[in-house]
Amino acid sequence: MHAARVERRARVGPASRAVLTVAVACLAVAAGIAQAAGAGLPSAAAPIALDVGHSIASQGAISARGVAEFEFNRALAIEIDARLRADGHATLLIAAEGRTEDLISRPRKAQAAGARLLISVHHDSARARFLEDWVHEGVARKFLDDRFRGFSLFISRQNPAWRRALECASAIGERMIGAGFVPSRHHADPHLGAGREYADERHGVHFFDNLAVLRHAVMPALLFEAGVIVNRDEELLLARADTRARIADAVALAQPACVAAR
Ligand SMILES: [Zn+2]
Repeated sequence: MHAARVERRARVGPASRAVLTVAVACLAVAAGIAQAAGAGLPSAAAPIALDVGHSIASQGAISARGVAEFEFNRALAIEIDARLRADGHATLLIAAEGRTEDLISRPRKAQAAGARLLISVHHDSARARFLEDWVHEGVARKFLDDRFRGFSLFISRQNPAWRRALECASAIGERMIGAGFVPSRHHADPHLGAGREYADERHGVHFFDNLAVLRHAVMPALLFEAGVIVNRDEELLLARADTRARIADAVALAQPACVAAR
C-alpha cells in the first residue's frame, strides 16, 4: 500500500500541472481510450473511470522480482477497461499514459467526463520493515512473506458518495472471493498494517478516509489493490494474463451492484 506516498504526492506545483495538461491531451487523442467524455451524459452512458495508479517516474511498489507497480496497474486497468467495454459500458482510462504525477486531477478528470464510478487500480506492498532480502536472477531483491497477500478495497468517508462506493466495493470483493481470490488481512492489523477499520470485513473493504484520489471524487470512488506484488507467489499469479482476465471478470460481474447503487 502506498497511500502515504500517494497523499504526499497530492501536493504539486504549476510545473506538474503543465505536464499533466500535456498528458491529458495525449490521453484524449489516444485511440480508443476516451470513450464518452463530456459532462451532462445520460446516466446509462456515463463512463466508468479507471485510474491507473502511479506513473512512469513514480512507479509505486517494486515487485519481488523488480517489476514496477505502475506496469501491473496499467496492464490490469487495460484488461478491466476492455472487459467493461465488451459488456457495453462506456469507460474512461485515466493516467494510463504514465505521466500523471498528481492525484487530484484523476478524480477531477473523472468528474469532467461525467463518470458514474471511479476505480483506482493498484497493487500492494507493506511497510519497509517487513521486507526481506533474496536474490532473483543474480539481483538483490526484497520480498514479503505470506502474512502479506490478497486483494484489498478502500473507500473514503470524505467521498460524498461513499455509501454507494461501499456497495460497489463489497460487490467486487464478493466476486473476487467467488473467483478464488482472498482478501488481505494485513491492512486491518495494527502491527502488520495501519489497523485500518473495516467497512466490510467479509469482502475485504476498508475505510481509508484521507486517500486523495477518493476524497476529491464526487462520484462513488474506490481504490482496488488487486494483490501483493512483493509476495513472491502472489506476484507470479498477478503477472499472468489469465489472472488479469479473472480479476476483470470479477469487476465486470459486480457492475450491476455498482449501477444499482447509483
Ligand atoms: Zn499503489
